[in-house]
Amino acid sequence: MTAWAKAPPHSDPIGTLADEHEYLNTGLVPVSCAVCATEVLVRKASRAQTSVQYQSSPATSCPEFAARVADGELSARIDTCPRLRESIERAVVTGAVAVPDE
Ligand SMILES: [Zn+2]
Repeated sequence: MTAWAKAPPHSDPIGTLADEHEYLNTGLVPVSCAVCATEVLVRKASRAQTSVQYQSSPATSCPEFAARVADGELSARIDTCPRLRESIERAVVTGAVAVPDE
């Protein structure tokens, strides 16, 4: 085993400064699934309400999501995959996604 055998995958940077500026203005924060790397924009409208905007069709980018759609688990109400939800919750806990005061 060589020291370089497990080079960490380097995902592409999430955006330019202009993008970051836009996220700040809209309150949308990019969060990507730790497992499938599906990227969404997240905004907390309040402590209880989280809005999630998919950048792409999650059924094509997230295997877990696709499996659920195929099983008919996700129908009218589109949810996030559990892994992505964890990532979003972590982003809220770490303060990456701001929660407005009520
Ligand atoms: Zn996922």
